[in-house]
Amino acid sequence: MNNDPKSFPGLFGSMVFNEDTMKERLSPSSYRQWKKSVSDGTPLELSTANEIAVAMMQWAVEKGATHYTHWFQPMTGVTAEKHDSFIATSNDPEDKGRIILEFSGKELVRGESDASSFPSGGLRATFEARGYTAWDPTAFAFIKEGSLCIPTIFCSYSGHALDKKTPLLRSMDAVSREAVRILRLFGDTTTNRVIAQVGAEQEYFLLDKKLYSEREDLIMTGRTLFGAKQPRGQELDDHYYGAIRPRVAAYMQELDNELWKLGVLSKTKHNEVAPSQHEMAPIYSDANSACDQNQITMEIMKKVADRHGLVCLLHEKPFAGVNGSGKHDNWSLGTDTGKNLFKPGSTPRQNAQFLLFLTAFIKGVDEYQDMLRATVATPGNDHRLGAQEAPPAVVSIFLGSELSAVVDSIISETPMEALGKRTLDIGVDVMPPIPQDNTDRNRTSPMAFTGNKFEFRMPGASLSISGPNIALNTMMAHELMLFADELEKSEDFDRDVAALIKRELTAHRRIIFDGNGYDESWLAEAKRRGLSNFPTAVDALPAYIDEKNIRLFTDHSIYSREEVFARYNIHVENYTATIGIEARTMVDMIRKEILPAVSRYGTMLCEGLEKRRNLGLPSKYEAENARGNCLLSDCLHDACLKLEKDLREVPAAPEEAMRFCHDVIVPDMNECRSFSDELEMITGKEAWPFPTYSDLLFSEG
Ligand code: ADP
Ligand code: MG
Repeated sequence: MNNDPKSFPGLFGSMVFNEDTMKERLSPSSYRQWKKSVSDGTPLELSTANEIAVAMMQWAVEKGATHYTHWFQPMTGVTAEKHDSFIATSNDPEDKGRIILEFSGKELVRGESDASSFPSGGLRATFEARGYTAWDPTAFAFIKEGSLCIPTIFCSYSGHALDKKTPLLRSMDAVSREAVRILRLFGDTTTNRVIAQVGAEQEYFLLDKKLYSEREDLIMTGRTLFGAKQPRGQELDDHYYGAIRPRVAAYMQELDNELWKLGVLSKTKHNEVAPSQHEMAPIYSDANSACDQNQITMEIMKKVADRHGLVCLLHEKPFAGVNGSGKHDNWSLGTDTGKNLFKPGSTPRQNAQFLLFLTAFIKGVDEYQDMLRATVATPGNDHRLGAQEAPPAVVSIFLGSELSAVVDSIISETPMEALGKRTLDIGVDVMPPIPQDNTDRNRTSPMAFTGNKFEFRMPGASLSISGPNIALNTMMAHELMLFADELEKSEDFDRDVAALIKRELTAHRRIIFDGNGYDESWLAEAKRRGLSNFPTAVDALPAYIDEKNIRLFTDHSIYSREEVFARYNIHVENYTATIGIEARTMVDMIRKEILPAVSRYGTMLCEGLEKRRNLGLPSKYEAENARGNCLLSDCLHDACLKLEKDLREVPAAPEEAMRFCHDVIVPDMNECRSFSDELEMITGKEAWPFPTYSDLLFSEG
């Protein structure tokens, strides 16, 4: 195999201080200590940290790095970095003043950052504004643009988690602990750790950079706030998996190369449903790496686009009327011995174990459906969920006909066709085979079982996947804990497992839905089943501070009560901030671009109309359009005034402000948009002040 770090496949991971590199560059005892620290969480000794730091620095400098940064994920959902150079001055009197390179274990394991401007949701008073960062030794350091990036957790002085990584690591520990308890009951004595595994598919749009830069809305908000529907959308279904155009192909090639260097397992790429929309899927990994890698992916996607004269949009809904972008979070549990716990087995015992994990998942999703919905609640995703192209806002699970038949047979004790008319007897029977790649899968389900994993399809394209995965891991840890508590006391394990599975599947069957999630009738049916339906982020976010959900996270030490409230506050404030930016951008574009342009255009029509009339010539076009232009521009003007007035009245209290934005500002914005879009349709192309949907959506090739 080619090991040249400049070309494929040798370049893979060439910019990552990974296990192989550590093995090569550390003393055997330090390498062993690092391995131990990763597997059982023992803290690194300072002497080991020092050795790792020096090895890391030497490796990084050889690769051209000059700086290091503690790379962390504050609660904003993006990543943050503060760069320090390796340069230090020598203390040795003989070398006085000479520059040396220095990076110590202390700097590796604990950095300090005056992070008072990161949102803390009230967790940190200003007198203790400092945050501490500490290397997460389970994640590899990597070099990005001349800086050694050290994946880090971020805590306040008093130990509160200020980031998204700390609770994710806690949730991975919790689900591992409880899953191992269950495995022991099934006689598994070799598994030491169960790993939450995640593969996040990333959808995105590519636009021509020049056209993008002519639209203030795209620049300020990442989405179009105006735009009449273009004549051609995705009706022909010709873009999905279509041939990739040369400019995009060149982009994707470079993207892969950059991601591979950073150890991101970019695997598949293809065109998506909407014009200019694409997708990248990596090979799955542990949830922690998957989150880091998804953050890196989003960043690199944007950077590489810039080099190709393109802009990469990660907004959930950049364009009205065409598909938005999501991020499918594929989630499963695997053992450190390589077994997938959501893969149906081939013996009765394995089946019972599979069914027990499946039941825990079903129960968890049913009990914490509101929480799962809340983890994907953002103003951007409000345009997407339930819009007949993304899953509805109601959480349900798709199992597929084979597995649903198994579940039905267990619940109703009725015979199953596939078992030769017998009832499935858990722990005695072998289940009928469940095809892993069931191509006819239901694309409308928010949570689909796809053979050996669950695919959570609600997260929007720009979301950090930590939130959803923290919730999935914790909910699963909780259900497995309850099952283990019960079964560890059992005197007849096989009988009690079967009874438990039947009892819980019966209790939580309502969350299983294999039908069409886009169908209007599903909403009525979901209501009848008592499932929750939170159409918007404003409806969904309060689930964060619901007592049941707070208890879930505090019981398993994922979040403290304060940490839960901090996150809730940040989401609430983010909603208001986002809508505020969108609304002010809208006002700006109406006043500075749209109204002046349509006024000029209207004047031109009126002048033409007058001349024609004077000459006694027909003037229908001028007359009708001048009238439409004047009427609509008055309407737009009034709607804009109302939006401006309402913006001045946004209440100060965060929750009231969020509600007000949802109830008043968003409808005002819809009103403005509708008048502007009508105006666009009756205005000559030359006169319209910025690129239209047709220009933008067909611009990448
Ligand atoms: P599709 O979307 O067509 O189902 P795949 O099944 O190949 O495509 O996988 C989609 C994503 O799910 C990929 O990122 C893949 O790595 C990931 N994935 C596959 N198996 C698992 C698993 N057991 N756990 C978590 N993610 C997985
Ligand atoms: Mg998918």
